[in-house]
Amino acid sequence: MKDFPLKALSFHPREECGVVGIWNVPEAAKLAYLGLYTLQHRGQESAGIVTAREGELWGHRGMGLVADVFDAETLNHLPGTRAIGHVRYSTTGDPDPENCQPLQIQYRRGGLALAHNGNIVNASSIRRELELSGAIFHTTVDSEVILHLLARDVGSFEDTLFSALSAVRGAYSMVILTPESLVAVRDPNGFRPLLLGRLKEGWVVASETCAFDLIGAVYEREVEPGEVIIFDREGLRSRRLAPASRQSLCIFELIYFSRPDSTIFEESVHEARLRLGAALARACPAEADVVISVPDSSNTAALGYAREAGLPFEQGLIRSHYIGRTFIEPDANIRDFGVRLKYNPVRAVLEGRRIVLVDDSIVRGSTSRKIVRMIRAAGAREIHMRISCPPWRYPCNYGIDTPEAEKLIAHRNDVETIRKEIDADSLGYLTVEQMLAAIPNHQFCTACFTGDYPVRFETREKKTVLGTGRRTTVARKAGGFLCL
Ligand code: SF4
Repeated sequence: MKDFPLKALSFHPREECGVVGIWNVPEAAKLAYLGLYTLQHRGQESAGIVTAREGELWGHRGMGLVADVFDAETLNHLPGTRAIGHVRYSTTGDPDPENCQPLQIQYRRGGLALAHNGNIVNASSIRRELELSGAIFHTTVDSEVILHLLARDVGSFEDTLFSALSAVRGAYSMVILTPESLVAVRDPNGFRPLLLGRLKEGWVVASETCAFDLIGAVYEREVEPGEVIIFDREGLRSRRLAPASRQSLCIFELIYFSRPDSTIFEESVHEARLRLGAALARACPAEADVVISVPDSSNTAALGYAREAGLPFEQGLIRSHYIGRTFIEPDANIRDFGVRLKYNPVRAVLEGRRIVLVDDSIVRGSTSRKIVRMIRAAGAREIHMRISCPPWRYPCNYGIDTPEAEKLIAHRNDVETIRKEIDADSLGYLTVEQMLAAIPNHQFCTACFTGDYPVRFETREKKTVLGTGRRTTVARKAGGFLCL
């Protein structure tokens, strides 16, 4: 017997993080916990919450799912009406307790905590400069450079904040908590979503609106690209960073990452996916009997395809929702064990039929091949695979965990070669133009399809893990250094 790790079941590119901020609402930690619970799909490696009360910050973070990291007792030890929270996957920085967010420090102005979704593309060079001037880093995550920049003496906290933000480039939707204020920031390109909601007398900020629904907050508007919203005793005020030459909203948030019950970029994710599916049906029709999806993220696009094509949409694959962190795999080899653990075919839907199989991406191709084989073995007569975006050819540098270009099947192969590799009877993608026409009126980043990167970046390098020790993650007041 051997362990089969959860990571081996991550078949799609993965969102790095989700963030939430609560201002001026009783039981802020519990609301942040519920918000993180709804954002769990954005990161399942670690979770954390920091709260503020009476001039001090209180934090708890750890490895695992939100429901594993927190219980009633830990939440009761996070007092106050202000909180920030974070769920994480790692792209920069390793899956390690030291890298759990929110990052938290104690410095000359008091406590400071930060939760970040995105990727600072010039973090390595800033870090090198800071280290040469004596700074000591405690984590391997890019976000820590922002904390170091915020700890410098450049005038008021607000002046220092703007100075720090003018030094960093890339994707950052971020919440920052001090004992006196909460700050919500979105980078000028607007890569990752960040939304503002109202709750009673207070405010909520979150990566997606689904976090508002559970806690009864009312969606107000987006934190706009380049906007810095500061909540403090004077209320809420909005300031602006220097604008980007163009916005670069991550179109993959609408295709795959965000939940269909969310509104982001002023678009219903559900409706955007329906339109992508309909566009796919027009662009890549198929002689078929039924449309099925690779659940769950492709369900809505498949529904859009089926409606446009006048075909029935049925559940041909069932996805397991009860996958833990590891599995015991029997010594006797089970073919495609990982995929079988996650998906199982419904013979009654597939047997003897011509299938349109809709998915939202093909990354390496190996998973698609296994799914196609599984559906064929369940009796499907023909399998026509349809992808609700263009071929994924280039890695992302703005907060999505993707393999290097050489490992992306579409980087080195044309569509016909990919079709043969995945063993489908036909394969169709949307073109970039068809995709953009389905979600008009925005300026999107499309770098993973086109290689046209909107913000210059440093070489993608796996960072070295600092230190080998593990620290406990019990709730405690911030000490004189990073409290992780
Ligand atoms: S490269 Fe792709 S995944 Fe990354 S931000 Fe741009 S659109 Fe999103």
